[in-house]
Amino acid sequence: KVPVPSDIEISQSCIPKPIDQVAREVGLFPDEVELYGQTKAKVHLSALERLKSQPDGKYIVVTGITPTPLGEGKSTTTVGLVQALGAHLHQNVFACVRQPSQGPTFGIKGGAAGGGYCQVIPMDEFNLHLTGDIHAITAANNLVAAAVDARIFHELTQTDQALYSRLVPSVNGVRKFSDIQIRRLQKLGINKTDPATLTKEEVNFFVRLDIDPSTITWQRVLDTNDRFLRKITIGQSPTEKGFSRTAQFDITVSSEIMAVLALSDGLDDMKKRLGRMVVASSKRGEPVTADDLGVTGALAVLMKDAVKPNLMQTLEGTPVFVHAGPFANIAHGNSSVLADKIALKLVGKEGFVVTEAGFGADIGMEKFFNIKCRYSGLRPHVVVLVATVRALKMHGGGPAVTVMFLPFFFLMTLLWLCCFNNLNKQIQNARMFGVPVVVAVNAFKTDTKAELALVVQLAKEAGAFDAVECTHWAEGGKGAVALAQAVQRASQTPSNFRFLYNLELPVIDKIRLIAKQIYGASDIELLPEAQEKVAMYTKQGFGNLPICMAKTHLSLSHDPEQKGAPTGFILPIRDIRASVGAGFLYPLVGTMSTMPGLPTRPCFYDIDLDTASGEVKGLF
Ligand code: ADP
Repeated sequence: KVPVPSDIEISQSCIPKPIDQVAREVGLFPDEVELYGQTKAKVHLSALERLKSQPDGKYIVVTGITPTPLGEGKSTTTVGLVQALGAHLHQNVFACVRQPSQGPTFGIKGGAAGGGYCQVIPMDEFNLHLTGDIHAITAANNLVAAAVDARIFHELTQTDQALYSRLVPSVNGVRKFSDIQIRRLQKLGINKTDPATLTKEEVNFFVRLDIDPSTITWQRVLDTNDRFLRKITIGQSPTEKGFSRTAQFDITVSSEIMAVLALSDGLDDMKKRLGRMVVASSKRGEPVTADDLGVTGALAVLMKDAVKPNLMQTLEGTPVFVHAGPFANIAHGNSSVLADKIALKLVGKEGFVVTEAGFGADIGMEKFFNIKCRYSGLRPHVVVLVATVRALKMHGGGPAVTVMFLPFFFLMTLLWLCCFNNLNKQIQNARMFGVPVVVAVNAFKTDTKAELALVVQLAKEAGAFDAVECTHWAEGGKGAVALAQAVQRASQTPSNFRFLYNLELPVIDKIRLIAKQIYGASDIELLPEAQEKVAMYTKQGFGNLPICMAKTHLSLSHDPEQKGAPTGFILPIRDIRASVGAGFLYPLVGTMSTMPGLPTRPCFYDIDLDTASGEVKGLF
């Protein structure tokens, strides 16, 4: 057999269709498409409005078992499945995937366009820059960060009157509030529109956000793995008059604005979410928002193009939306609601939209259901759960090997049952939401026939609707035709979708439900900081938000070393944070890095540009 070439070689060997042709094929009108060169286009939200009376297609979510650090092929399977459904079974399809961060592309993991003969192309454009959405988020995020510190500085160095005359300048002798200032006055309970009528006390209230610097949760961001920015000191120039403080940079994809983009269902909704983002508390303990800072309109302007989904294609010419890429730990790890909504309309009633949820089913899928589907109102038809023999072997660990005297087959079965715990638990996790599960066993060339067959058999016995061996990485869509047929059958069964929890439950009960039901914990333990936050967020009126657990993806528990399906552990909740604009509370289970670092030999060592041909080399 010919070895499979590198991802970039495969990507470059295929000539993509002009993207305006892809747009026409999926039924978009020319005025709904904004071309970004030959291979990428943005799609206007007006398409959703035009198609709003059309029925939606079938909604499929791809998730996985608890992975090895290498990833088990969710992106590859998402692409493989749409190639099979679209190019081989001739169905209307769309894949909706996340835009990768530049951090991992140059760092350890490489790109996220899929792999082998299942990729979004051109993969170099997919992995870097795309149409600039991540850059827009960086710009918007850092505008808020600058606004926070500048505001504190100005409030500390000026009198009420000086602040007032600068915030509401007199033009030709007349002072006038802007719209955003009138909103702030209304929030303060001051129903006045004429600046001349404000009392001294009202002026004080209006001009002072009184941000408590120790409560600032808004960080600066950059889309680069730069570990030395994990903790920094800002304000060291003499011009800042000693107002320095420690702060940090996070990676852009972990920012709240990325999560806002992913969860918004229109321009107006996005603007409202941006305005609601909480950056700190005031000294009186009230939340201070982007709207209070006066920055909402500017953020909406910076984000107005990013809100439009990006159209690309797979190696086999099927359409793909690439849109938003929130972190899967401190955010919800799913691509955008808007891309899914437009795609579901475009494929029509009999078509399929396949989207991917980050990390294992305990994280990405749980958040897909409880956060993304709750906000979008969309209901999934099928879960595709990706498993690999290599990850299952990792979950088996080693202890059973010591049972040397057992007959060989019995030993093998024992080992496999041990390996199988994690897949079994993740199948049950998906079934808990009332959605049929199809297990995709992603075959690697090192797997034996017997191993693959055993996984298929055990998955079916565990209650999967079906389980199928797939070879799409090596063969393209052809290798996922059986998977696609199983998904088609599963999508015909009635879905009894339900959420895991009601939003009205107290914060602690919601966290406990996820920990016990999805992770297998016997209980949770709230450390003091988390207890304080539960009280504070409940008091501030955020107790009804859904929960976005920030937990390691390498174990069902909080300890990455605990493989398989551990039970009986107490899940420690170190702290809780709020992304009020995006719309969730995120409990921190252990420490989460929001700024990855570079390894000794990062991926960038292999990345190069052939200056004669302009070709990018070495991306994977
Ligand atoms: P995930 O989305 O689960 O993180 P990816 O689809 O990105 O996983 O795959 C992770 C890596 O493994 C990619 O480099 C991909 O090309 C590779 N890969 C996936 N499936 C296979 C396979 N069957 N054989 C060999 N490599 C594979």
